[in-house]
Amino acid sequence: MAIRYTVVPKNPEAHLFEVTCTVVEPDPAGERFALPAWIPGSYLVRDFARHIVSIRAESGGHEVALEKLDKQTWRAAPCTRPVVVTATVYAWDLSVRGAHLDTTHGFFNGTSVFLRVHGREHERCEVEIRRPAGARYRAWRVATALARDGAPAQGFGRYAAADYDELIDHPVEMGTFALVRFEACGIPHEVAITGRHDADLGRLRRDLARLCETQIRFWHGSRAGRAGGPKLPFDRYVFLVTAIGEGYGGLEHRASTALLCSRDDLPEAGGGEPGESYRTFLGLASHEYFHTWNVKRLKPAAFASYDLERENYTTLLWAFEGITSYYDDLLLVRSGLIAEKDYVEILGRSVTNLLRTAGRHVQTVADASFDAWIKYYRPDENTPNAQVSYYLKGSLVALALDLTIRAETQGRKSLDDVMRLLWRRYKKGGADYTGVDEDDVLAAAEEASGLSLERVLREWTEGTRDPDFGRLLAPFGIDFERRPALDKPHFALLGCTLAAGGEAKVTHVYDGAPAQSAGLSGGDVLLAVDGLRVTADNIDKRLARYLPGDTIDVHAFRRDELMTFRLQVGAQPPPKFLLKPDPKSPRHAATLRRRWLGQAG
Ligand SMILES: [Zn+2]
Repeated sequence: MAIRYTVVPKNPEAHLFEVTCTVVEPDPAGERFALPAWIPGSYLVRDFARHIVSIRAESGGHEVALEKLDKQTWRAAPCTRPVVVTATVYAWDLSVRGAHLDTTHGFFNGTSVFLRVHGREHERCEVEIRRPAGARYRAWRVATALARDGAPAQGFGRYAAADYDELIDHPVEMGTFALVRFEACGIPHEVAITGRHDADLGRLRRDLARLCETQIRFWHGSRAGRAGGPKLPFDRYVFLVTAIGEGYGGLEHRASTALLCSRDDLPEAGGGEPGESYRTFLGLASHEYFHTWNVKRLKPAAFASYDLERENYTTLLWAFEGITSYYDDLLLVRSGLIAEKDYVEILGRSVTNLLRTAGRHVQTVADASFDAWIKYYRPDENTPNAQVSYYLKGSLVALALDLTIRAETQGRKSLDDVMRLLWRRYKKGGADYTGVDEDDVLAAAEEASGLSLERVLREWTEGTRDPDFGRLLAPFGIDFERRPALDKPHFALLGCTLAAGGEAKVTHVYDGAPAQSAGLSGGDVLLAVDGLRVTADNIDKRLARYLPGDTIDVHAFRRDELMTFRLQVGAQPPPKFLLKPDPKSPRHAATLRRRWLGQAG
C-alpha cells in the first residue's frame, strides 16, 4: 500500500500549506512520522520541522494522540485503521531550499512538507496537489518533475514517486509562471519562470538547449539521443526559475533544479546582447544541470543513502561541488555561449579570489568539505582568514588536475576521461549502491590518465599548497600576469571589505593587513578618514590619494563608542591575476587550448 499525501495551499495570504500523510496499515506499536533536518544539496541542519505550526492525527474519524519524540519526530498512538496526520506548514522562505506561498505563487521542496514514515521509506508515495480555493487561483498551473499519476500536464491533481527519496527530490512550483519547452538530445526540457520579468524566452530556449546538449554529450558521447544511442539517466528535466529583485541560488535535483535569480540576469526581450549577469545565470543553470550526474547519480559514499536526521560527513565536497563548479563555466565556453577570452578572464578572477584568501593556508579543502555543516553555510567576519571555499578551491584543483593531465599526456587524456570513468564505475545503481570513497577520485584520475597523481592531488586537497597556476597554464598559451590590485583602495590599502552602499561598515578584516594591525574589526562603522567623512560610496575616492607607507587616522564606531585608529598603509597591495589567451602561442599550445576549450562536437 502506498503512503498517501495531499498538499493544499490552504491559506496563501497567511503563507500556510496544509499537508496530510495517510498510512493505510499503520505500525501496531504506533506509527512514527518525521520531517528531515536538512535538504540534500545544502549541507546545513535547517530543522524544517520548526515551520510546522500545528499537527494532529486521526483514524476512522477519531482523534489519535500524537506524541512528540524529538525536535522533528512524532508518534501516533496505536490504531488498527488508517491513520491520517495533518500538519499546517508555514511557508515564507524565498529560497531554493524551503517553501514559499503567497497569493501570487507557491513553491515547496518535499523536505518542507512531506512527513517521512519511519521504516517505510521504500514504499511508493502518492501525492495529490490541490489548487487553492478561490477565483484568483483559476489560472494557476503546476511545474515539477514529479511523475504525473492522473494529473493533467502542468495541472493540479495526482502525482507519484517510487519511494520517499524520490518524493523529496522533485520541488514543485505553482502559479502563473511563463513556460518554455525544448528538447536536448531528444529529452524534453521545461523552463518555468516565476516572478515579473521581461525575458527573451526564445534566447533562453536556444541557449539552454545548447548547454544541455553539450552536457548530455559530455557524459554519454555524441550518439546520445540518436536511435540506438546510450540510455540516458532521466527522461524529462525541469528548470524552476524564480526571478526577483536581487537574488542568486540554485539547488540540484535528479530531474530538475530550483534557481533563484535577479530578473535583470535574464536576457531582455528586445534588448541588446545580454551582459555579464546573464553569463552568471547561465553558469548557475549549467552548475545545477551538471549535478544531475555529479552528486545526484555519482555520489560520495556518505550520500549513498542519506540520513535525513543529522549531518552526513564527507571530505569529498571539493570534488562534487568543486569539479561541478569547474565544469559549469567550462561547458559554457564549449557550448559556444561565452568566448574563450571571457572564460579565461573568469578563471583569472577565481585565481585572484583564492590567492587572496588567507584561510587557504589554514584549512584544507578536504577539511572544508567535512566542516561544511558548521562552517561554509555560516560565514562570519573571520571567514576569509580561517576558511577556504570547497567550491572555489575545489574548482581550481579541478582546473589544475585537468591541465596537468592534458599537458602530461599531450592532450590525449583529460579530466573529462576521469569523470566518465567515475560515471561508468560508480553511477547509482540498485539499493546496494555504495558511492565514491575518499580515494576513488584519485584512483580514477590515475587510471584514466595513466599518470601518477597522488603527490600533487594530496598536496592540493589534504594539504594547503597552492597549485602553481602560472606554470600549469603556460603549455596552453595562456598569459598569467600578476598585478597589484589598486581598483578598490579600501581593500588594497587598508585590507578590509565593506558592506555595499550606505555607511562604511566593515565586513571582513584580512590577516596581517593594515586595518588589522591598527585594531579595526568586522562590524566597525568607519566614519572619517583623516577628519573627512566617509561612506561606502565615497571612501575609495578619499583613499585614492594615499600611497604605500602613508599614515591615516580613521574614526569609527564600535558598540556605539567612537574610536580612533592610526593605520600605516602597507607597502604590498594584494595581487590581482589577469589571464589572457596569447594569440601568438605556438601551434602545439594552440592545439592543447582548443582541445580544452574548443566547442564540443
Ligand atoms: Zn553545487
